[in-house]
Amino acid sequence: MALMVGVSGIRGLVGKTLTPRVVVEFAQAYGTLLDGGRVVLGRDTRPSGGMFAAAAAAGLLAAGCEVVDLGVAMTPTVGHAIRAGGFDGGFVITASHNPAEWNGLKTLDELGLAPDPERASRIAEIRDQQAFREVTEGHRTLQRDTEAGERHVDAVLTAVEVDKQRLAGTKVVLDSVNGAGCVDSPALLGAFGCDLVHINGEPTGHFAHTPEPIEENLGQLCEMVRKTGAAVGFAQDPDADRLAIVDEQGRYVGEEYSLALSTAFVLTQRTGPVAANLSTSRRIDDLAAKAGVPVFRTPVGEAHVARAILANDCVIGGEGNGGVIDPRISPVRDSIATMSFILQYMALTGKPVSALAAEIPSYVMIKEKAPCAPDRIRSAVEAVTERFSSERIDTADGVRIDFDRGWVHLRASNTEPIFRIISEATSEADARDLIAQVRAVAQL
Ligand code: MG
Repeated sequence: MALMVGVSGIRGLVGKTLTPRVVVEFAQAYGTLLDGGRVVLGRDTRPSGGMFAAAAAAGLLAAGCEVVDLGVAMTPTVGHAIRAGGFDGGFVITASHNPAEWNGLKTLDELGLAPDPERASRIAEIRDQQAFREVTEGHRTLQRDTEAGERHVDAVLTAVEVDKQRLAGTKVVLDSVNGAGCVDSPALLGAFGCDLVHINGEPTGHFAHTPEPIEENLGQLCEMVRKTGAAVGFAQDPDADRLAIVDEQGRYVGEEYSLALSTAFVLTQRTGPVAANLSTSRRIDDLAAKAGVPVFRTPVGEAHVARAILANDCVIGGEGNGGVIDPRISPVRDSIATMSFILQYMALTGKPVSALAAEIPSYVMIKEKAPCAPDRIRSAVEAVTERFSSERIDTADGVRIDFDRGWVHLRASNTEPIFRIISEATSEADARDLIAQVRAVAQL
């Protein structure tokens, strides 16, 4: 498996495709692009993280950057630190939800977002040409900041809009998968007065289960919620930008509900637009319609959603995979801001999570993949766009067609020679029918 290079950074197999040498070069290339600016450095808990963080610090310092190392930090903590400290950028060592043998790095711009494609290709170009900024004197001392996590938690608590003490004594199970969420998340739950049962809460980087926070990996969390009689269960991914929710009966409520429930809560407090990517559930449109606010749909990718949130002054936004953005904290997906929204919704309504989820319209979503040669992508998308031109169509990322009974989104993967075909409808039969129609027209 080769080193995977994308807009938001690189991922590779530790010691095989991803080595300290590669990280030094990317870091120095980024430091060159920033012309020796001020950079926040953070990492998740993977055992290789300390080694790669040292390599990143060396590359950035070599380019003349001022570097503040947060040590183990959630990706949203780095985002918050960039904004709060007025930094020029950030550098995070993480492979997010990939298994333990992987690691990677993400560069963040002065807003805390993945750089735009132009800057991303400039970084790659500087590295390819080895055209590094190389200072020969006046190197900065590597600075350390161990309190950024506390400041991030404080920012989330300052943004609370209901009486959080209504949840005092409520039992909550948190599964931090021994990742970056271990360290500072308990302080948030403590401030709500919750009685925390913290599983996989040691920041060792030895993931207790496959780290992606999806149903098949959360059996231990569901069981612990049932066993302890907790009111809710939360699961973070290793860099703690995504959150999954388990209801008071120990049932995984589905990744789309992290954004849907957060949006339902926020719209009880404030009025304003909402942003989501094109593959996110129609539940968002239903909630927004009820509140009389617009929804801005974007191509898939956190930075697209974040930029739409900033450009349109949205009150909330995110992705259906459990990545929720509270722009008051930073434009980065944030598992602790998401926990705060869910807890506040419970405190405000006094209702259990299952009841809150049941109030949101229910749909069936189906996701399929279809192999496609790169030279056929364009004609397939064009054929589908043409065939359904009388329907509501969005072509910002492949093509999404909205019918009354549901929608279907056909988009090419950024990393593999495949199409992703996602549909959602009120019944499974309708969702399958929409996919079949698109596959037929696109000849997939
Ligand atoms: Mg992540």
